[in-house]
Amino acid sequence: MLSKRLKVVASYLEKPIFFADIGSDHAYLPCYVCSEYYDAKAIAGEINEGPFHQAIKTVKDYGLEDRISVRKGNGLEVIEGTAVEQITIAGMGGKLITAILNERKHLLHKIDRLILQPNLDAHLIRNWLGENSYDLIDEEIIEEDGHIYEILVAIKCEYPTKYNENINESDYLFGPFLLKKKNEAFKKKWIREEEKISNILRQLEKGKEIEIEKIRAFKKRQALIK
Ligand code: SAM
Repeated sequence: MLSKRLKVVASYLEKPIFFADIGSDHAYLPCYVCSEYYDAKAIAGEINEGPFHQAIKTVKDYGLEDRISVRKGNGLEVIEGTAVEQITIAGMGGKLITAILNERKHLLHKIDRLILQPNLDAHLIRNWLGENSYDLIDEEIIEEDGHIYEILVAIKCEYPTKYNENINESDYLFGPFLLKKKNEAFKKKWIREEEKISNILRQLEKGKEIEIEKIRAFKKRQALIK
């Protein structure tokens, strides 16, 4: 059964669905989507040999070879020459997700919708969206098996939008939609983060060399969280 995390990602795809799942691993997400929707099509992109072969196997097991193309390649290169308009990237850090998006920006001109699920550093993605003409239109934060996951949904925008104009430092860090919803997972995440920062600060303040700049940055973040 597909994880709750990936089901949330799938729920934000626009119909009719033709999407590319970058870093697809076993291709569970494309297989789930194409099993749910008879007319859905997908590309499962993988850079590594092992997961690439796993993806081929899963697609074969589901009998979906006619609708899911499994491609080996680095990031967005697997969408070159295709009509894909939506991309999912899930289960990686915000740094890697933004690196993948940055590496082949020219291939994003046709991409109307991005559904991104960073395991950490979601603020890097919010920054990236603002700087690359994507408008954040929704966010979710969920808990599954003790882990907390954020899902960010963005659409291409022609002009700077309200979101991009009005976003401030705490919106970038916490997520403007998540801040409004403030559900249990959100509270849990930021209580955990604050505890982590308190521990780091205790260690830094005990250290032989007092690292003023680091302490200042952590204290600033701690104040924002509080
Ligand atoms: N997306 C799946 C999920 O959310 O469960 C798998 C996440 S798994 C932690 C990350 C996958 O991304 C790995 O299978 C890895 O090989 C792949 N990957 C990492 N960097 C990549 C890149 N630049 N291009 C394509 N795939 C990549």
